[in-house]
Amino acid sequence: MTLLELENITASYGPVQVIDGVSLSVPDGGAVGILGANGAGKTTTLRAICGMVRAGGSIRFEGREIRGMGPDRIAGIGIAHVPEGRGTFAGLSVKENLRVGAYLRKDRAKVSSDIDYLLDLFPNLKARYTSAGSALSGGEQQMLAISRAYMARPKLLMLDEASLGLAPGTAKSVYQAIARLRQESDIAMLVVEQNANLALDLVDTATVLETGRSVLTGASEELKSMDEIRRAYLGG
Ligand code: ATP
Repeated sequence: MTLLELENITASYGPVQVIDGVSLSVPDGGAVGILGANGAGKTTTLRAICGMVRAGGSIRFEGREIRGMGPDRIAGIGIAHVPEGRGTFAGLSVKENLRVGAYLRKDRAKVSSDIDYLLDLFPNLKARYTSAGSALSGGEQQMLAISRAYMARPKLLMLDEASLGLAPGTAKSVYQAIARLRQESDIAMLVVEQNANLALDLVDTATVLETGRSVLTGASEELKSMDEIRRAYLGG
């Protein structure tokens, strides 16, 4: 079954149209990448889905049109967004950030076991459990942002440039943890990433955006083997 379906999305900032026909679909439990150069419209696509940017076209989630809904409602129906730049609360501890992520949930016992699970997935966060968000390294903040989003138990987790600003080894371990999260839950993922190598190891399929349009969609393995993609996004 299709969880999320974008059909011919458009979006503008003032008079400037930056998305001009993005279509993609994320199956239940699937993981899909959005690749593309700087400014191609990847971040704007995620913002359109979570209701932060007004969009044209159709955005369906579990078969229902959600275009035009506000960010709160969209979060409430099971879409979580980890924005570029992370968005954790600097003044709150790791523990408090995780609790804030779960604020809409009633299943308190499960909330505690989810926290235990995340601290096992990200041992760095366990060591920093009572530290303020502001005291964390860039990699730890990214781990916290992902964990906080997961605490809402979304059906779809949208990650924007999870590797941005991280040392290569840290970026790799963050992606390994995301892959484990994927394997061990039924969560679906939509992943925006400049580092196509990392993204293509995680996702099943990916869509390439060029100046606000989807120009190519394919299976990860297929994209990795395409010369054009290798030259543009895989450094080879
Ligand atoms: P990046 O990796 O640089 O974030 P991206 O593919 O995610 O690139 P977007 O951030 O979606 O691209 O930006 C698409 C276009 O919209 C770019 O030309 C960008 O300069 C422009 N843009 C983004 N945010 C705004 C804004 N708030 N106001 C005006 N223009 C914007």
